Amino acid sequence: MGFERFGRLSFTAQSKTADFVDFLEKGDLYATRCGDCGLIFFPPRADCCSCLSSAMDWVKVDPRGKLVSFTRSYFAPTGFENDVPYVLAVAEFDNIKVFGRFKEGYTEDDLSAGMEVALKPLTLPDGQISYQFEPAS
Ligand SMILES: [Zn+2]
Repeated sequence: MGFERFGRLSFTAQSKTADFVDFLEKGDLYATRCGDCGLIFFPPRADCCSCLSSAMDWVKVDPRGKLVSFTRSYFAPTGFENDVPYVLAVAEFDNIKVFGRFKEGYTEDDLSAGMEVALKPLTLPDGQISYQFEPAS
């Protein structure tokens, strides 16, 4: 239990990676690393999609990374309709590529590929927990 607190819309209450939400609440970002082949997953996975191992370890993610790419979204899936437009981005942290939203108020004019960004835990107004990118300070 506990995973129902993750994201704007949670699609599941139970996950073997529910500790991820507890880490986020404390301000820490954790990925999982396959104990057999070493692949790292963020958001965390309980099972490795490469070697099918379930021997996962938690590894802390350095929250400073570089922006790889971004786009502005004018259409949104269910639950996000009132947020558009917003910026979606991919950034790299410790060789982990992370997909997510950029902090509200930033547009594509404020961003450039290669800029330093930070991955920050985010508590939404309704108490749900997520994460977002913002410029590194
Ligand atoms: Zn593996």
